Amino acid sequence: METGLRNRIAIVAASSQGIGKATALAFAAEGAHLALCARRADPLTALAREIEGRYGVRVFTAALDVSDDAAVRDFVNRSHERFGRVDICVTNAGGPPAKPFLATTMEEWERAWQLNLRSVVSFAQAVIPFMQQQKWGRIITLTSYTVKQPVPELVLSNSIRVGVIGLVRSLAGQFGPDGITVNNVGPGFTATARAEELLEKRAAARNIHTEQIRQELLQEIPIRRMAAPEEVAAAIVWLASEQAACITGQTLLVDGGAYRGL
Ligand code: NAD
Repeated sequence: METGLRNRIAIVAASSQGIGKATALAFAAEGAHLALCARRADPLTALAREIEGRYGVRVFTAALDVSDDAAVRDFVNRSHERFGRVDICVTNAGGPPAKPFLATTMEEWERAWQLNLRSVVSFAQAVIPFMQQQKWGRIITLTSYTVKQPVPELVLSNSIRVGVIGLVRSLAGQFGPDGITVNNVGPGFTATARAEELLEKRAAARNIHTEQIRQELLQEIPIRRMAAPEEVAAAIVWLASEQAACITGQTLLVDGGAYRGL
């Protein structure tokens, strides 16, 4: 399938590891040039060298926290200066802590909003004017299948990320006439450091072995395994492709069938 992504410019946020990194690699494999950010510079620099060597595309990197509004806007502007356009923006961040509701603090709610919703606002406000000038753009938010099916210990994620869906649908309606599509990808359990951390927390809470928790979890997933980060990345790349030009305002779950609703 020809994705039409060769020489497109793709921002991928929080991309030093996990799903973000897999997404950066997948765009590079399609010939897109990249602007990558994460909190630490060293892993990003190593990833940029790997991508440039393997795919011959250009990679711009910046170390920043996506909950820092000014830093995000500056990163988007510098990406535009570097490449002359911004075609695709994949928003991503770390997940909020897993905690029972009554144990959460107001500081954690504030932090979750800044990290997982406000950061999307920062990116969208910064990239949309460039995309409007180009009359072409793709914004893809990375959230979680918790936007459809709450996970008990993830009350912060369950609550805050639903706001991203409201934003996605609002922006899809408003900016469709400018040739901009806005969609959301919701991964289910995906084999990354984040998933391991959640399994270990569940095991510690019940004082049982992590392997037992893993087996219980897999019984809840019809395909009986977690997603690979590359499988989530493939959905993101497809939504950015020319083939997906007619799809906007949607949430695509990559969860092995874990969400059972209609
Ligand atoms: P991960 O922990 O493997 O990677 C997270 C990435 O985000 C890293 O590159 C990290 O450096 C970066 N990051 C974290 N906080 C940041 C910040 N404030 N500013 C900039 N960069 C930051 O996680 P992952 O599994 O790749 O998950 C990516 C997103 O998908 C997270 O929001 C996670 O909650 C969500 N998610 C993951 C799963 C899963 O099972 N892995 C399931 C559903 C949703």
